[in-house]
Parts: sequence; structure tokens; C-alpha cells
Amino acid sequence: MTAPASLAERERPAAAAALDVDRLRESFPILDREVHGHPLVYLDNAASAQRPEVVIDAVSDCYRTYYANAHRGVHALSEQSTDAYEAARGKVARFIGAPSSGELVFTRGTTESLNLVARSCARPRLGEGDEVLLTGMEHHSNIVPWQLVCEETGARVRAAPVTDDGDLDLDELAEMIGERTKVVALAHVSNALGTVNDVAAVARLVRERSNAAVVVDGAQAVPHMEVDVSALGCDFYAFSGHKMYGPGGIGALWGRAELLASMPPYHGGGAMITRVTFERSEYTAPPHRFEAGTPAIAPAIGLGVAVSFLESVGLERIERHEQELLSHTLEQLNDLPWVRVLGHAPGAGSARAAVVSLVIDGSHPHDVATILDEQGIAIRAGHHCAQPLMEALGVPATVRVSFGMYNTHEEVDRLILGLHEVRRIFG
Ligand code: PLP
Repeated sequence: MTAPASLAERERPAAAAALDVDRLRESFPILDREVHGHPLVYLDNAASAQRPEVVIDAVSDCYRTYYANAHRGVHALSEQSTDAYEAARGKVARFIGAPSSGELVFTRGTTESLNLVARSCARPRLGEGDEVLLTGMEHHSNIVPWQLVCEETGARVRAAPVTDDGDLDLDELAEMIGERTKVVALAHVSNALGTVNDVAAVARLVRERSNAAVVVDGAQAVPHMEVDVSALGCDFYAFSGHKMYGPGGIGALWGRAELLASMPPYHGGGAMITRVTFERSEYTAPPHRFEAGTPAIAPAIGLGVAVSFLESVGLERIERHEQELLSHTLEQLNDLPWVRVLGHAPGAGSARAAVVSLVIDGSHPHDVATILDEQGIAIRAGHHCAQPLMEALGVPATVRVSFGMYNTHEEVDRLILGLHEVRRIFG
């Protein structure tokens, strides 16, 4: 006789059914196209994912039927646009577990979100000798904004090292946090290696040792796993719409209410003020304080629809499917002695998202990308905006394969055949 299930077990939802990828692909019109006479294999999702028809339709429907400037007019179209824009804010906020939609600022994307935090939160708090602590695996957009404010304030940027396996060295990071640390900024998921950083553990370390703000670059996490900013214990979380099946030109910054409320505006202009005279201006409360000018209304509405789409497919199912694709890829690459995979050593401490960086003996990543492109396979070659990481790994560039919810095992097999073709050409 089996023991009765505990309450917790009974309340736990049954594991989600596997993803029906063939059906899912029908939602993405671009996946039907051919490239150089071959069916497209799109494996550049870490750069930008593709959009489902519902997102394309939502943006087009906005422009066709109800677009007007938001927050400005009392006429019907303006009210409808404002309502749809604010409803999208609510959806995106709930999606990442934000306690309130007032903590969700729409931006142009991760880059602008991180610049906003650097300029409005960090800059006024930084002084000579203070420190901004990053990790060795950051994207340039989580390095350069900090350098800019450090140059102006006399503070300095430091970076916690990454191990040879591609994990963040948490012991070293802990050692580097001190009284001078004012910001700890890290990627949730590395765009170059797929390393999933334990943000909750980092946030706990930071709280034990300093008053630093914990800033998370979530660009590569939000489309691939459930994110709950409250559970992570961070202060800011930045992400981009175009990587999560939404439109380009829109993204978001979540920030703790009390921190946002204490921050001066990032940009000045319309929509972020309550009163303006030539002597001085008074500003609205967050989030509008940080959204000067006419916002990206239709893209924000499209992002709300992308969030609903992600929820309807289910993050748990997406993650499981992408992990299967990752295992399938790594198993096959393992059989190719002329391929070196970076940062996916078996037994690595941290989990990995479905991003694989590799180098091939005797061939430049850009040549590999060109040969694969001729076969209709889109991957990325280069430094992936992570030059310090590339330097630490001792490579100028890599070939990066990054998966999305719609990729298939057959596409992995085509990639492997493509790599064999590269090998044949380069000998
Ligand atoms: N952070 C990470 C980890 C990224 O992968 C990217 C984009 O590739 C960015 C930040 C910058 O995102 P965006 O160009 O959308 O601002």
C-alpha cells in the first residue's frame, strides 16, 4: 500500500506535460522560412528570440485600432492606450514576482535598465574609494555603466573571478565584499556560457557583509526559467523584451519600492513631472518618474502579450525542454574530439541554461558561423559582449549556440552535421 500523499505533495501541481514543439512552432511565422535554400534553424536566441504571431498581432492591432499617446489625453483612444500600457506593466510585474506594478519601470531594455540603476541609484551613493563589485562573466552592459559612474566619483570596479569550469567563485566573491562595496551587480545567467548564478546565495552574502545594492542582469534568465524577484532577495532586476519573445525596443527594470522612491530621475522631460517652473521641477512617483517622454506604448503592450504567451506555454515545460536540447547537444559534441566546449564540464557547481560556447580546432568562429549560415543555421560568433570573460578563458571568440522554446532535437542534429561540414572544409 502506498502512503497517503502529504498535504504539500497533494497541493503540488502535477509535473507539466511535455512541450508539443511541433504545434508550438506553428505560432512562430518566421520559423517557416528558408535561408540559402534550407529550412531555417534558429539557434541565436540569446541574442534575440523570435516572436509568436500573437505578439506581432498585438502590436499591429494597437497601431491599427486604438493607438494614441498614453497618459496625455482624455479622448477614448488615449484612455484605451493608457489602460493597455498600464495593464502590460501589471502583467510583466506579476510575471517576475514583483510585489507591485509600481516597482516596474519600462525601459528600452536591459542596457538602459542597468544604466538607470548606475546613474540614479549608485552615482549619488558612490564616493572616492568605494567599490562596485561585478563578476568575471558580465555582459558589457553590466560593466560599462558602472565604469562610467566610477570614473565620475572616484569609486572603482572590481570583478569576482570565474573558475575554469565557468562557475562564479563564491568564496572569492564573499572575500571581496566589504564596507566599501556599494553595489554588487551580476548576471542571473551568463550569455556566453549559460552559467546560472545562485543569486539568492549572493544576495545573502551581500546582506551579511555590507549595505550594498544587489543588481541582477536577468536578460538571459527571464525567457528560460521561473523568476521571482522577491525570493531572489535582490534590489534590482533588469531584462529585455526581445529576448523573451516580445518586441524590440522595450524592456524593464524592477526595483524595490523604497529604493526607487529615493532615486532622482534618470531622464528629464514630459510625463515624469507634477509641476515645472523655470526655477525648478517636481517629479512624479515611480515608476513614471523614470519614464520621461512618450513611452514605447505598442512594444510594451506586445511585451505583456509575450508574457502571457510564456505563461501559457509554461516556464517549467520550457526549461525542461531546453535542458533536454542542451543534454542532446553536449552528448553529441562530446563525440567530436576537435570541438572544445567551454564552461560545461560535467560536475560543474552551478546549473547551466541552454547556451553552449565552443571552439573548433583550426577554424575561426566567424568562418564556422558563415559555413553554418550557408546551411540555414543561425548561430553567433564573436566575444558575445563579454570580452573580459573571453580573456579569462583564453579565447578571442567562440561559436555560441543558444536555444529557445521552439528548437528541436532534429535541429541539434542539423547543427552537428553542419559542424562536420566545417571540419571537412578546414580539414
Ligand atoms: N545582459 C546580458 C546577459 C545579455 O545577454 C544582453 C544582450 O545580449 C544584455 C545584457 C543587453 O541587452 P539589451 O541589448 O537588450 O539591452
